[in-house]
Order: sequence, then structure tokens, then C-alpha cells
Amino acid sequence: MGREIKCPQCGKATVYSTDNPFRPFCSKRCRLIDLGEWASEGYQIASEPGLDDYSTGLEPEEQPFTPTRH
Ligand SMILES: [Zn+2]
Repeated sequence: MGREIKCPQCGKATVYSTDNPFRPFCSKRCRLIDLGEWASEGYQIASEPGLDDYSTGLEPEEQPFTPTRH
């Protein structure tokens, strides 16, 4: 089902699984906060190895959940 982890943004317990489109964050809000940080001056200053994973922003498998229409 997934592992329980702590949200890197707020520290709240959340589940890391394909059911969570915002993983490893607990919510869309925390994800946006984190993305917003690298989109601002923070990312331009920091060119540390390992941040490349965020360079493309959203990955195809991590698109926000789209409700199914009936
Ligand atoms: Zn969070």
C-alpha cells in the first residue's frame, strides 16, 4: 500500500504511495510551498548536487489527481 513517512515540508505523517499524488508531501499545499521555494531566489543560489530532481517540476506520474467524469 505504501510507507508512512513524514512530510518534508511540515513534518506531518503521510503515506508514500501511488495513491498520494503529492508524495513525498502530505498535501498539494506543502508541495507547492516546496516548489515555490526553488522557483524563487532559493533555487538560484543553491546549485547543490541532488536538486536536479526538481529541475523539471512536475513529473508525468505525479500530475494532480483528475476526477473521473460519469
Ligand atoms: Zn505537509
